[in-house]
Amino acid sequence: MTALLEVTDMTKVFGGVRAVDGCSFTVEPHTVTALIGPNGSGKTTLFNMVTGYLGPDSGRVRFAGQDVTGVDAGTLYRRGLSRTFQQARVIPQLSVLENLVAAGGYSWRQLLTTRRVGRADRDRAGQLLEEFRLSHVADLLASELSYGQRKLLEFAAVLMSDPTLVLLDEPTAGVNPVMIDTMERHIRERHEAGITFLIVEHDMSFVMRLCDPVIVLDQGKRIFSGVPSEVQANALVLDAYLGS
Ligand code: ADP
Ligand code: MG
Repeated sequence: MTALLEVTDMTKVFGGVRAVDGCSFTVEPHTVTALIGPNGSGKTTLFNMVTGYLGPDSGRVRFAGQDVTGVDAGTLYRRGLSRTFQQARVIPQLSVLENLVAAGGYSWRQLLTTRRVGRADRDRAGQLLEEFRLSHVADLLASELSYGQRKLLEFAAVLMSDPTLVLLDEPTAGVNPVMIDTMERHIRERHEAGITFLIVEHDMSFVMRLCDPVIVLDQGKRIFSGVPSEVQANALVLDAYLGS
């Protein structure tokens, strides 16, 4: 089986800190793969490099059989590789509906000055709003949403591109238990519909319920990858989390 995503020997140094340090891993198609590790172990930096928000010092990224190292985030998004952020990023000055349409490739100027948005994009946005139970807030500004709703909106916006691979950076951090269940349901549904996920998450029960395999990072290096049942018994992983 050819990996959907192949990260090879990636490194990123900030000042003296080796945030990501010779890290390699693969994401196989049709998996929900978890990327876990203590705070500061380099998870977000890896996401930034894989999704074109940050250039690596060294290393390669292959996505869907092509070398995409250094390709910008917009191009990757259009090719089907998209992501959410640890602190949900939505455009606060636009409505919920406009945020979705904007994610479909319209500039702010087009949205704010004209109504020239294609019917297909409008329909797609409307359908996502219904699926995510956000129709009743479609015309509110994104800044008026709760934190959990913003995370949902950001997830929905990522789906506007009809992605193959979605990277979620802490999808449940800071949201209430009901919203965690909602997030889990949406991930499962989209996974069943064919999307592959790579998820950074601290909630271990969420990871154990949803993800297989699990990759563990510590100090910028992959220290484990395997099935979830083996993670918690692995001595290296325990050491990384307990700080010994
Ligand atoms: P994680 O997401 O696993 O918590 P990060 O990738 O955010 O880890 O951070 C890894 C390390 O790199 C940390 O020591 C962090 O302080 C450092 N770091 C991350 N981004 C920057 C940056 N833009 N400038 C300087 N240091 C950074
Ligand atoms: Mg992070």
